[in-house]
Amino acid sequence: MGLKRQKVAKKTISFYKYNFSFREPFQILIDGTFCQLALKNKIQIKEQMPKYLMGEVQLCTTNCALKELETLGKELYGARIILQKFQSRRCAHLKDPVPASECLLSMLGETNPHNYFIATQDHTVTAGVKKIPGVPLLYIILNTIVLDKPCQASLDHVKAVSLGELVSTAQQQSIRSLKEERASHSRTERGGEKRGRGNRAILTL
Ligand SMILES: [Zn+2]
Repeated sequence: MGLKRQKVAKKTISFYKYNFSFREPFQILIDGTFCQLALKNKIQIKEQMPKYLMGEVQLCTTNCALKELETLGKELYGARIILQKFQSRRCAHLKDPVPASECLLSMLGETNPHNYFIATQDHTVTAGVKKIPGVPLLYIILNTIVLDKPCQASLDHVKAVSLGELVSTAQQQSIRSLKEERASHSRTERGGEKRGRGNRAILTL
């Protein structure tokens, strides 16, 4: 595994950890196209993924992705066997499966609240992922797994947060706790004032 490739990946992972609160085990949502190419290139996803991402991973997929492989027949049997071993995450299409690409994108919503990584070779998914801030994209190129650099939507989001146009999730939480702290402080202060310094209590009220 190239040192430079690993270094770039490390930087990208830090970006998602810092700006989008990604934590281990990383949730890797995988589709059939990724499995198929991994198989063709003799890449052991289960071994390679945690090494490359330098952390614990949880490999998962959806029922729709599995169903799609089933309908595509014998050629994809190997990929299906691999995909079947991953955890199947609940999607919104339990009764009526949709194409894997549609399903994967639906798992992300508008803000990727479950912090999924997406591993795919499907251009429809890739194009969709790039419109959503905070979705790390994995694909296979030249026999290796590659973590894509953060897309423009992610960079724009982070910039907007830093400019104060948007409030990140982490900030929302700290603002909330700050407010709660203030509230409890002012309660004790006010209590103290009532007991001791009547004049000041009137001023602050
Ligand atoms: Zn689905």
